[in-house]
Amino acid sequence: MPQTDIVFRVRDLTKRYHTGEIDILALRDVSLEIRRGEFIVLLGASGSGKSTLLNILGGLDVPTSGEIDFGEHRLSQASEAELTRYRREHVGFVFQFYNLIPSLTVRENVALVTDIAEDPMGVDEAIDMVGLTPRRDHFPAQLSGGEQQRVAIARAIVKRPEVLLCDEPTGALDYTTGKLVLDVIERVNRELGTTALVITHNAAIASMADRVIYLGDGQVQ
Ligand code: ADP
Ligand code: MG
Repeated sequence: MPQTDIVFRVRDLTKRYHTGEIDILALRDVSLEIRRGEFIVLLGASGSGKSTLLNILGGLDVPTSGEIDFGEHRLSQASEAELTRYRREHVGFVFQFYNLIPSLTVRENVALVTDIAEDPMGVDEAIDMVGLTPRRDHFPAQLSGGEQQRVAIARAIVKRPEVLLCDEPTGALDYTTGKLVLDVIERVNRELGTTALVITHNAAIASMADRVIYLGDGQVQ
C-alpha cells in the first residue's frame, strides 16, 4: 500500500479531560490508519471515546499526547488557525442534530457553505446526490427529520471534502429513515470517493462498512 493511500495516521493518541476533581482518560494509546476512500464505522458503548476520536480527527479537539497526521499535515501540532483551515478545506461534518437555518430554503442552506469553499460542486448537484431535488425550495420545517439530515449531508459535501465525519447522524431517526440517511452517506463514499467515518447504532451499517473499529474504554479493541 503506497504511503499516499493513507489519509489518517494516528499513533499512541491519548486524550485526558479534567473536570473539577475528576480526571477522565477518554482515549488511551489509540493507534490506527485510515486509507483513502474507506467507509469506516466506529462502534462502542456510550462513553467509550467515539466522539472524542472523531472530534480529534476532524480538528475540533486536540489530543493530550500522541500524534495524528492528515496526509502531510501534522494535526497534533497544528495551531488553532491551522486547524480552522484544515476543517474548512478538508472535512465535512454531520451531527445528530441538523443545525439548518430555519429561515433559509434547502438550496440556501447548502449554498451558504459554498462562499468559503475553494472548489465547491454545484448546489443543485449536492442536493441531487442526497435525493432532495423535488424539495430544494422548501424550508426545513416542511421536511421530515430524515430529509433535514440529508440537507445537512448536502451541506457537508458541497465543498467536496476529502473526509466526511458523521457523529450519530441517525441518532434521532427510526431504523428505516436512518437507513436512508446511511444510504446517502454510502453513495457519497462510493461516487465521490470521500473517506467516511460514521458513528451509528443503526444495524443497516453492517452491510455498508469496509471496516469496523471497536472502541472500549478509550482503546481500540
Ligand atoms: P462516546 O462518544 O463513545 O459516547 P465520548 O468520546 O463522548 O464517548 O466520551 C468519552 C469519555 O470522555 C466519557 O467519559 C465522557 O464523559 C468524557 N468526555 C467527553 N468529552 C468531555 C469533555 N469535554 N469534558 C470532560 N469529559 C469529557
Ligand atoms: Mg458520542
